[in-house]
Amino acid sequence: MSKRILIIEDEESIADLEKDYLELSNFEVEVANDGQAGLTKGLNEDFDLIILDLMLPGVDGFEICRQIRDKKNTPIIMVSAKKDDIDKIRGLGLGADDYMTKPFSPSELVARVKAHLARYERLIGSNVEENEVIEIRGLKIDTTARRVWVNGEERSFTTKEFDLLAFLAGHPNHVYTKEELFREIWDMESIGDIATVTVHIKKIREKIEYDTSHPQYIETIWGVGYRFKV
Ligand code: CA
Repeated sequence: MSKRILIIEDEESIADLEKDYLELSNFEVEVANDGQAGLTKGLNEDFDLIILDLMLPGVDGFEICRQIRDKKNTPIIMVSAKKDDIDKIRGLGLGADDYMTKPFSPSELVARVKAHLARYERLIGSNVEENEVIEIRGLKIDTTARRVWVNGEERSFTTKEFDLLAFLAGHPNHVYTKEELFREIWDMESIGDIATVTVHIKKIREKIEYDTSHPQYIETIWGVGYRFKV
């Protein structure tokens, strides 16, 4: 999906030039030609980046930056015709991500936009932890959410059933004895013995196997234990 950029700029020729260049780089661009319209759009719609002119009719760039920053982390590049203004906005600490003095080349703007989007994505990406998911032949185990699906249909498991299934599926092709599995899943104080393992394996098979007499996931290795087949 292409990234959406908002340009808040009252000089239409500059806004058009920026828009053309950004569109050539496959960005989706919206333009607001006055402060109030820009502020409303910036607050109410989701953009991936905002290019914000400082001197605008209505609400100025200082105020727009402050209000958007109050609500959102969208990267903001502030532009101004005056070098002094840039120094001033830096000093105010409004939270803009970058500053450019007009005139600038459109290709420099595009390069900065791309750099900020990449930086922002790394920042966001590092905060999102993906769930650990094991998927084998129609069986899907989300070990983070502790949920299991068989051919797209969710099945419910008790805590120990889930622990046992997730452990076996997490160590595919490894044969475990019932003793090993009991030690792994049940703590020492637990009441029970290795027969508990057998009972749980049976219950898991009833939930995940198409034919429990010919299990395709958890295989019985006679005289030894069990193995999760991949
Ligand atoms: Ca202006």
